[in-house]
Amino acid sequence: MFEGSQAVVQNGEGMDTKSERALKGPQDGAQFLNGHEPPRPPPPARRLAIISWTTFSVGVNFALLAMMFVQPSSPSDWFSKARLLPQEHLKKTNGSAPCYNSANRVLCLPRPPSPRLSFSASEHLLLCSGNGHYVIEDEETGACHCHACFSGGHCEQLDPDCHLNLFHGDPTLFEEYWLTQPDAPTVIPSWQGMSYFAHRNNDYLFVDYFLEQAIRKIHGMVGNAVTEGRYIVLGVGSTQLYQAALYALASPESPSPTPVVSAIPHYSSFEGCTKFMDSRKYKWVGDAEKFKRSATKDQPYIELVTSPNNPCGSMNKPVVNGNGSVVNDLAYYWPHYTAITAPADYPIMLWTMSKISGHAGTRLGWAIVEDASVAAKMAYFIQLNTLGLSQDAQARGITLLRAIMSSYENQRAGGVERERQPFFHYGQAVLEGRWRRMRQALDNTSRFDLPEYESSFCSFLGKNFRANPAFLWLKCKAEEDCQQLLKENKIIARGGAVFGMSTQYVRVSMLDRHPLFDLLLARLASLK
Ligand code: PMP
Repeated sequence: MFEGSQAVVQNGEGMDTKSERALKGPQDGAQFLNGHEPPRPPPPARRLAIISWTTFSVGVNFALLAMMFVQPSSPSDWFSKARLLPQEHLKKTNGSAPCYNSANRVLCLPRPPSPRLSFSASEHLLLCSGNGHYVIEDEETGACHCHACFSGGHCEQLDPDCHLNLFHGDPTLFEEYWLTQPDAPTVIPSWQGMSYFAHRNNDYLFVDYFLEQAIRKIHGMVGNAVTEGRYIVLGVGSTQLYQAALYALASPESPSPTPVVSAIPHYSSFEGCTKFMDSRKYKWVGDAEKFKRSATKDQPYIELVTSPNNPCGSMNKPVVNGNGSVVNDLAYYWPHYTAITAPADYPIMLWTMSKISGHAGTRLGWAIVEDASVAAKMAYFIQLNTLGLSQDAQARGITLLRAIMSSYENQRAGGVERERQPFFHYGQAVLEGRWRRMRQALDNTSRFDLPEYESSFCSFLGKNFRANPAFLWLKCKAEEDCQQLLKENKIIARGGAVFGMSTQYVRVSMLDRHPLFDLLLARLASLK
């Protein structure tokens, strides 16, 4: 098909005339890759007109689609049958029910009416003890695929000696919330979302209209970001948007690459991604304080500010305050991790589905961008880099954001969900509980220092609380390699050096599944 993005742009393959028009030059006269210029978003007022013009037809289509999608395949029948299975969920083949080979035994289950139901929450909970995913591989076979540290036909055994891999901030703690939610229809039909473009009139940013609305609405509900008059650019996770921002901000006039800086400890991927790109337009310099001391007054730079910070949870602010650009990474500025004190209002703000709902695998991030030409350059990067992003991911994003918001609407309406905690309340309570238990566990050992976190009033949750960061940022009191110490105790974590700090520091994810978090507490508490 495509030999590369350059071919796509030059041949215009897969593009309609509107898209070709979108690829025509920016009105600010800047030149870009291939001699082409980035698409320029229409001004917000025109966008509104376009949106209203299409709302009716899109609305009708969406309603039709919803009707077809929710078309009764009797999932509840199937769930209730599954629930009636004997405790061990096993039965010898009797020829009447479809049977799957699982862990050398035969499982007989009512066949799901639709393949998408093979991933239902009840199936996983029933068959794999909540510690694995049940996967139907074909007509005949299916099995529990157990999460790390679990084994057994139903993932019922936890290996107490396993290596706890807490190196990444993989946000699987939220899985439990989603497992107890009514199944949200996040699988889209084969004929939907086939085009490169999510929305015919919004193709320059590849943003689905409904996703854009959901993003603006959830920020409005939580009060954690200003979105009015701003552009939304989507990326394959905020990792891609970070690269897009570097591309958009690097000074085109500068004879030398624009320095990229961030206060230490900084998010480790910033350095990795920046160096990996090996660009002539920008280069990784690192420590922002050090840069500030040596920079000349008018020197351009790009400063990355993560708040709450990864790895240490601090509420960072820019340190250079010179003639440069700032990218604010706000991945963790949500009420489960920290008090929301004011709507963030910065020129470029990066957000990710990974840390709100825990759906890192969806690979969906967004940037809220003030300046139209910066948004256009970022979108141009996304276009050349991955030719937009998955419609399936966008559809999932819409469903998940709406599910979070409706957990609050249902509360207010006193609907059927009233007994359930709404999402952020749930997440905050879980993380607060984890941090309380973590502090107790660390009280048992004198090996580590932990940063102090202050309490603030959260305008969304309406209460004061102390931050519950996504990571434990430990400093070994003795001058030792803290990552190595944990490794010897079967805890795999990320050493301080990649965050610009010494090896005396180590970052441990607080976001893993419950049984593994319990194991982490026990292992840390035992370090005398
Ligand atoms: N920014 C920060 C501060 C992060 O911690 C992470 C994930 N670890 C990301 C960005 C990357 O997010 P995504 O999964 O959307 O690429």
